[in-house]
Amino acid sequence: MANAIFRVPPPVNEPIKGFTPGSPEKKALKAALAQLKGQHTEIPLVIDGKHVRTGETDEVVVPHDHKRVLGTVARASGEHVDQAIKGAVQAQKEWGRMPWEDRAAVFLKAADLLATKYRAEMNAATMLGQSKTAFQAEIDAACELADFWRFNAHFMQELYAEQPLSPPGQWNRTAYRGLEGFVFAVTPFNFTSIALNLPTAPAMMGCGVVWKPAPTSMLGAWVGLKILEEAGLPPGVINMVTGAPQTIGDRCLASPDLAGIHFTGSTATFNHLWKTVGNNVASYKSYPRVVGETGGKDFVFAHPSADPVALTTALVRGAFEYQGQKCSAASRAYVPKSLWKGVKEALVAQTNELKMGDVEDFTNFMGAVIDKRSFDKIKGYVDGAKKGPGATVIAGGECDDSRGYFVRPTVVEATDPKYRTMCEEIFGPVLSVHVYDDAKLDETLAICESTSPYALTGAIFARDRGVINKLAAALENAAGNFYINDKPTGAVVGQQPFGGARASGTNDKAGSKLNLVRWTSMRTIKETFVAPTDYRYPFMTES
Ligand code: NAD
Repeated sequence: MANAIFRVPPPVNEPIKGFTPGSPEKKALKAALAQLKGQHTEIPLVIDGKHVRTGETDEVVVPHDHKRVLGTVARASGEHVDQAIKGAVQAQKEWGRMPWEDRAAVFLKAADLLATKYRAEMNAATMLGQSKTAFQAEIDAACELADFWRFNAHFMQELYAEQPLSPPGQWNRTAYRGLEGFVFAVTPFNFTSIALNLPTAPAMMGCGVVWKPAPTSMLGAWVGLKILEEAGLPPGVINMVTGAPQTIGDRCLASPDLAGIHFTGSTATFNHLWKTVGNNVASYKSYPRVVGETGGKDFVFAHPSADPVALTTALVRGAFEYQGQKCSAASRAYVPKSLWKGVKEALVAQTNELKMGDVEDFTNFMGAVIDKRSFDKIKGYVDGAKKGPGATVIAGGECDDSRGYFVRPTVVEATDPKYRTMCEEIFGPVLSVHVYDDAKLDETLAICESTSPYALTGAIFARDRGVINKLAAALENAAGNFYINDKPTGAVVGQQPFGGARASGTNDKAGSKLNLVRWTSMRTIKETFVAPTDYRYPFMTES
């Protein structure tokens, strides 16, 4: 098959299914939900292609019904982590040399398996394991993940096609090697697509991977691994270890073979990993590539010329979809006094009517937050705002964890623009609004720009083009993904490459060619066809 320059099929974003009444996808999803609830899923470690069961396990529970146990996850010891590292380093040697189109074929096949045979199972796992509604599961676990796999194959091909100039008599080439050693992929709970993209993007580029998923996203992670196995991923290329984060992290970061970290999660965890790499830097065989996408405190800034209806819709969807547990969720808004009366009425009314509950009831807009730790943290912010001073709760505010970890969508009106819910990442369904005097536009813009250490996403709402231009310039460094008259969430692979700067990460844009660059080590090859045979240069002759 080698004598051709192959092209991957041009990628197209996976169409989102509607789950309308009576649709085949709705029937399939309900059947998959029933099946998953009726079984006990035992998730092993995956080391060198072997499913390893350990004596110690953790439970997989349903966030909106936390007494319901759906299965267990194996807990890795330090030795298991060492075996996973060894497996990845060993497998990389052969995998990295495999023709790139064969590597691409594994992930293109995985995307098709996900979009067809495994779609319902994957969505059901994400709904029950992470409390996502059918729509939120579909756009994440089915569509975005299939997009990552298909678009990354296309970006890899584009990257490999980039070759240097060759003057007459030479042939200069660049080979894109997988990183020598292993990449440590550490993933968050909130997106199944991110959980699987972080190990697979380096793997596609020819790296070996040790993957540590978040303990609260294991059902989806496990379906993803099953798909990759069926798609023909060779043993050892991606090894999955679960259990105590510190044990796994310390062991991986202590290995001289660490070639990179592909992380998404909180800023605090990323800082810890980066510091550890810094401390260990002299012990590594190569300088590890450190890539991390982290927290956010994403803003919506409205100008007096904004359309109040579009603004309200963006606030409700942007702040409360998936319970505000998106790194891109709208969590602080700046609204001018001249618009506030109408916006407030609609925002409070719409927030209060949002239906929350078991995600298997398809009429619900929201489910529960992920776990007890998260629930307690969010409740702390809400209770604080209820007490004031500096803020008032104008919608929601109820928290109840008796059955599931439920937090009603909450709107806080903050008279103080530096009130803590305007500055700190809460990662829950809490939107804080500061109402500003129309005459203080510039002052408020400066506050919006500098309030938070993060710079992930942000949106502006305005009609006047001159104003749009001015706001975009003033907020140039405040967001890596910037939206004009739209909510700050919902980036699509291939359309809005995603990532932020400042304390939000290294901005290596998941789902773009730039991210793939981090997982390859170029080898430049110069070949001279007729080599010189005399060491003397012409300038050395005087006559
Ligand atoms: P988290 O930092 O608590 O956990 C992320 C991962 O790190 C998990 O797998 C966790 O087990 C692991 N971890 C924790 N301590 C570790 C250690 N010492 N060594 C190795 N691994 C360790 O984050 P989370 O609660 O899962 O996710 C929410 C956070 O992720 C939010 O801050 C959110 O903004 C961020 N996020 C960012 C993006 C983005 O693209 N910027 C996307 C999604 C989520």
